[in-house]
Amino acid sequence: MKVDKSRQLFEEAKRLMPGGVSSPVRAFRAVGGQPLFIERAQGSRVVDVDGNQFVDYVCSWGPLILGHAPASIVQALKVAVERGTSYGASTELEITLAKMVAEAYPSIEMVRFVSSGTEATMSAIRLARAYTGVEKIVKFDGCYHGHGDSVLVKAGSGVLTLGAPDSPGVLNAAAQNTISIPYNDLKAAAEVFDLHRTEIAALVVEPVAGNMGVIPPKPGFLAALRKLCDENDALLIFDEVITGFRVALGGAQQLYNVKPDLTCLGKIIGGGLPVGAYGGRRDVMEMVAPIGPVYQAGTLSGNPLAMTAGIEMLRALRQPGVYEQLEARSQRLAEGLSRAAAEANVPVFMTRVGSMMTTFFTEEHVVDYCSAKTSDTGSYAEFFQSMLDNGVYLAPSQFEAAFVSLAHTEEDIDLTVDAARKAFGTIAKNESAR
Ligand SMILES: *Cc1c(COP(=O)(O)O)cnc(C)c1O
Repeated sequence: MKVDKSRQLFEEAKRLMPGGVSSPVRAFRAVGGQPLFIERAQGSRVVDVDGNQFVDYVCSWGPLILGHAPASIVQALKVAVERGTSYGASTELEITLAKMVAEAYPSIEMVRFVSSGTEATMSAIRLARAYTGVEKIVKFDGCYHGHGDSVLVKAGSGVLTLGAPDSPGVLNAAAQNTISIPYNDLKAAAEVFDLHRTEIAALVVEPVAGNMGVIPPKPGFLAALRKLCDENDALLIFDEVITGFRVALGGAQQLYNVKPDLTCLGKIIGGGLPVGAYGGRRDVMEMVAPIGPVYQAGTLSGNPLAMTAGIEMLRALRQPGVYEQLEARSQRLAEGLSRAAAEANVPVFMTRVGSMMTTFFTEEHVVDYCSAKTSDTGSYAEFFQSMLDNGVYLAPSQFEAAFVSLAHTEEDIDLTVDAARKAFGTIAKNESAR
């Protein structure tokens, strides 16, 4: 595979930007490789600056559930851009998108649009603290809720991948009010509430963990968290930045039938443009400025281009059969990958909820951060590189999800499984040579 131009651009980028990137995981450090610079993308495929084409399962880290550059969103954006890119004033587009969100999420009576998932979680946590009048937050090890100070404690995604503990620069006071416990561990959750009964403002959780690789909640886990919060007057915040519109139109709260007080959305809701949102119970949301005292604002919040892309995205996802197709394609991929690993005698643990999945290179059952960390990241790096060489672009880290989109065809899936057969074969061969 020719990578001359990517290599050259990366050298230049590194002089100008930390690590040569605008977001850490893009630098391929966890797989020891050379990041590819992308020139364009369409449907299930991305093309890099050296002309290599890949079936893409990163899908911009989650947002692109329709695939790249879907005609409906591109067309709508062309019309919208001619009308001006930003006004800093209200538009009907915000009402349209807010209605669509409320229809899909009965728990969201009021919503505030922001520009990223980080902003959504930061704001929801501030709001929960203001509403309850207490300061402690409970989260789970390996869950990622953006890079706000309060949640950069035992976080997932790039923090986990780079092995960085809590980031320097985060206020001790912020970190001290955050308690992080193992995912899927109800006993730990109950103990925390016993210990800090009156001090907990909110429990924030990825209802399906997606930032330490995909880890589904154990049966009853989310409902038990709901009960704990109710018994202790804490708010339950579902961070559905990945799972929202992904595992079902109504997110994980629909799939598992558990109603949070507040929900954070991002990624898919922006149709590939920067949108985040937080919303929930009316009595809580009415504390947000300007009708309440909790300040939160944004120059580009509710941006007309971003709202337009979000509306078109949700329109497409409201069509019948969409989630059934995603499920069928995703199942085909997961089963194909499992079979390919078994044939090559490479031990893996596959996890999947709908169109998000992870192939963990471990023999353990992955249920939390600790078990996820038993994965052999060296084998993942080999797998990643071999897949790339065979035309498949996976996340450059073991601890991320692969996302299937509506643009992935059965042929794409079969090509991917063929590539995986070769990749697992290479790993098995290297393993026996060691
Ligand atoms: C991606 C992500 C975020 C942060 O969203 P950004 O748009 O990257 O700021 C927050 N929570 C979860 C669960 C995420 O996956």
